[in-house]
Amino acid sequence: MVRILVSDPIDADGINTIKANPKFSVVEGAQQNGLDKIDAWLVRSETKLTKDKIQAAKNLKLIGRAGTGVDNIDLDAATERGILVINVPGANAIAVAEHVFALLLSLMRRIPPADKAVKNSLWRDKTLMGSELYGKTLGLVGFGRVGKEVARRAAAFHMTIKTFDPFISEQNASAMGVLSLPLEEVLKTSDIISVHVPLTESTRGLISRKTLSLMKPSAVFINTSRGEIVVEEDLAAAVLKGAIAGAALDVYAKEPPKGSPLLALGDRVILTPHLGATTREAQKRVAKELSQNVIDFFERGLVRGGVNLPPEFEPEILERLGRYLALAERLGRFLGQLMPGVWHRLKLNTAKKFSERDQKVLLHAALRGLLSCAMGNAVNMVNAAFHAKERHIQTRTEYLSSASDPIEEISIHLRASDGHAAQLSGRIEGDGELRIVRIGELFIDVVPQGTLIAIDNLDKPGMIGKVGTLLGNHKINIADMRVGRKHRGKEAIMVLTLDNKIDARVIDQLTRLNGVTKVSQISL
Ligand code: NAD
Repeated sequence: MVRILVSDPIDADGINTIKANPKFSVVEGAQQNGLDKIDAWLVRSETKLTKDKIQAAKNLKLIGRAGTGVDNIDLDAATERGILVINVPGANAIAVAEHVFALLLSLMRRIPPADKAVKNSLWRDKTLMGSELYGKTLGLVGFGRVGKEVARRAAAFHMTIKTFDPFISEQNASAMGVLSLPLEEVLKTSDIISVHVPLTESTRGLISRKTLSLMKPSAVFINTSRGEIVVEEDLAAAVLKGAIAGAALDVYAKEPPKGSPLLALGDRVILTPHLGATTREAQKRVAKELSQNVIDFFERGLVRGGVNLPPEFEPEILERLGRYLALAERLGRFLGQLMPGVWHRLKLNTAKKFSERDQKVLLHAALRGLLSCAMGNAVNMVNAAFHAKERHIQTRTEYLSSASDPIEEISIHLRASDGHAAQLSGRIEGDGELRIVRIGELFIDVVPQGTLIAIDNLDKPGMIGKVGTLLGNHKINIADMRVGRKHRGKEAIMVLTLDNKIDARVIDQLTRLNGVTKVSQISL
């Protein structure tokens, strides 16, 4: 039974799809007893998932954010513990874009004071003179999902649209009739500036005295992204002294913005209480998508909207790599047990059939396998890179260079800090079965599964007999035996598949057999 805690109000239609599935049990509400038993925790932005809470939820495997921003979640704490964080970006982009226009038109057409005037039995005066959007220049800082939806709607108002987004190509913007320009240019030449960036170290405080001073005195500023992107004192000062004409905000550094200087600016500023995504349609869309993604994660291991996974972990790549992921992981686990110690570098080689993104994902899988030898189940695809970094393990991917290299194989190469190195190659057979086809320089054909004993030995008559007799004397059954060698009379390897693990005493006796150089027990 997968236990799910839903601690913020999330649309019932979505949550009901989880409740209807007998494999899941759902607890709703802010009470946080029994955190140690939950497998998944679903939140909006109200619950703050701090390090302490994440640590208290000892069984937690998944955090689901019904929405986009994840600044209420301690991502580092989740990643370190291997807890996957998913969100549903995009499901509320239309709602936010429409809210931008609600704010913008309210500000330009003076709707709040006009409404107040009529309700106070007044009529219109010159302070209610508005401005049109037609022909104005809209500057979008950030051209992602929301930015693009805003641009689509702005085109209908016949506005000129400019954007600054260092991660979006000029072609991407121009395909939508949007001019991509440096930030300074966008700020200096726009009549309306609307921000649609995530909160990152480079966007925190992006709208400050310095950037505000570049805007036209007639410009208005809109923020529906994240409060911390704006230095609120600087924005309030700019509005007060007329350095810009006005502002409309949906998000604040502190929510609610108690004591913020923005509260005292009268009708030159419109403030809404983080309503961007608050439409019935968006809430339903978000909850439905999130709930399906939670079910798919636990039932099929499928990850959609992974926030703390490397960007290469797209569902299509994972699906395409299929059994190769399991192969890379087994190779990592095999190698980690073949060469225990302080690892220095893990390298993955493939043929060109795998893209660089494929390689990165495969490397991750190999790393997870390797680290599981030292960390057991505590390591997974989410935290493998984190723990590799902690252990100063360098990683690298390369392409096989020779045309004669088999295109189906993947190889991993491990170097220890004492200079020792080992290498394994594997492939997938036609029937989908995994195979290790090379250990170091030696060709072999081993199914990487169950309990294996790898015995490095000299290629000379009688070795197989000696090993078989010793194991037989200990009543140990050999299910399978594979041998590999490169040259007659030189080093060789035997890999035995056993029914059960053997104890250290037997390993020791095997190691002392004449002609045996090394014995490793490997559990896969
Ligand atoms: P997104 O990830 O699709 O787009 C963000 C864009 O910002 C990306 O294209 C990225 O390249 C760009 N960017 C990153 N750093 C930048 C920088 N320094 N300068 C310029 N551009 C930069 O995100 P989105 O779904 O469009 O969401 C945008 C913002 O809206 C986020 O902050 C999100 O949290 C917020 N949001 C608010 C509400 C609300 O209720 N008000 C709802 C949903 C989303």
